[in-house]
Amino acid sequence: MSRKKSSKKTTAMKLSENTCPVCGFDKLAEPPRNKTGGASFEICTCCGFQFGVTDDDKGLSYNDYREQWIAQGMPWSSQSKKAPKGWDPQAQLGSMALRATLKRVKGRPPRMSLQMA
Ligand SMILES: [Zn+2]
Repeated sequence: MSRKKSSKKTTAMKLSENTCPVCGFDKLAEPPRNKTGGASFEICTCCGFQFGVTDDDKGLSYNDYREQWIAQGMPWSSQSKKAPKGWDPQAQLGSMALRATLKRVKGRPPRMSLQMA
């Protein structure tokens, strides 16, 4: 069970477990899903996605919701918490996409060439 300790901290590319899979906001109070898949029911202060409700009850996928959020101009969602200083939703999304891509490419090399949406 010491899997985590064996990897050296040589890179800052580690994807935090407390990162919102919708918008890439990395300061969630809890991971959106625990190890058994249970939802946290936390509402992302950034995009407003509620894990276990927006997805399970409303049937929206992370991708669906992300598209809507981007279409709305990527507004900060929480009214009680302010956006972090210098918050940049585009940079946040970009770094999430980059990390997700790197992770995917590492684990399973894509067979097809790039698909542009
Ligand atoms: Zn979010």
